[in-house]
Amino acid sequence: MQAKKFRISMRFAGIAAAMLMGFDALAAGPSAGYAPLSIPFAAEPVGADNVYYFSGESGVPGKQNEGFTANAGFVITEEGVVVFDALGTPSLGAAMIDKIRELTELPITHVVISHYHADHVYGLQAFRELTKAKIIAQEASRLYINSPDASQRLEQRKQALSPWIDDNTRVVTPDFTFEEGTLLESGQYRFHVVHAGPAHSPDDSLMLVEPAGVLFSGDIIQNERVPFLASSEVDTANWMRAIGKVRDLNPRVLIPGHGKASESAMDALNFTYDYLAYVRDRMGNAVEAWIEFEDAYEQTDWSRYENLPAFEASNKANAYRVYLEMEKAALGGS
Ligand SMILES: [Zn+2]
Repeated sequence: MQAKKFRISMRFAGIAAAMLMGFDALAAGPSAGYAPLSIPFAAEPVGADNVYYFSGESGVPGKQNEGFTANAGFVITEEGVVVFDALGTPSLGAAMIDKIRELTELPITHVVISHYHADHVYGLQAFRELTKAKIIAQEASRLYINSPDASQRLEQRKQALSPWIDDNTRVVTPDFTFEEGTLLESGQYRFHVVHAGPAHSPDDSLMLVEPAGVLFSGDIIQNERVPFLASSEVDTANWMRAIGKVRDLNPRVLIPGHGKASESAMDALNFTYDYLAYVRDRMGNAVEAWIEFEDAYEQTDWSRYENLPAFEASNKANAYRVYLEMEKAALGGS
């Protein structure tokens, strides 16, 4: 098992990596010029050989969590390391690289991005500067990168996350984009990357690692909490189709975009799928019967979800968003 074989001192691993790969592995982390981190930061195993994740804290990005609010992960293959998501600051990206190099001297070959939201991608800058990894994302990410939203978000994070985000921070663009999906092969593993958006963002994508049976889901599969559907870009029909595709591949371990990894991936997939189906069914019926949203919401039995985290914060807005989506579909929109 790759991971154990190279569990040697960080310094030695860094030197070995630098010698073998011909670039400066020792420059990762704060020494590379990124603001140092003081939060605990570790690569946690997830119940599948060679697969690890970094488990972000809950809450909004701020000085208390140093921007570490999302998850990211990686798989060590016989040929190299495939990373999924890059966390929310260049410092966190550099810390990921350091942790990976404690475990293996193999090169980081790819970084696959779940969606281009700040908490998942600002770490890409470190991967671009310190590795030769190819960055892969869904085509619609380009829309976000060039949007006013993206520059406003960066300005906001400079305030909220100084010194980890500053005037040197930039949004790194992908090297390759895909439409429906793409398949990567590295060593003993296959990586099925599937476009699932627009769900909570246009470019939402999932990555299933076979034969490990590990699903990196980004933000669209949540474990035991009400998912967030209240985005103007939401398309629950697409979302359900994407879950259907991934469900057919029968994953075992789930690494979500936020929250703890789970060894019952199918439960989380089924939970999200059933929630989407339920809200669509109830709101769809109401639209067909010309029932106003407020009445439809009141008349719906929410008892199976009302005790879950995020119910209060998200459920009504979710239902409204789906109501509008069903109304649009009923009126002949897409
Ligand atoms: Zn997120």
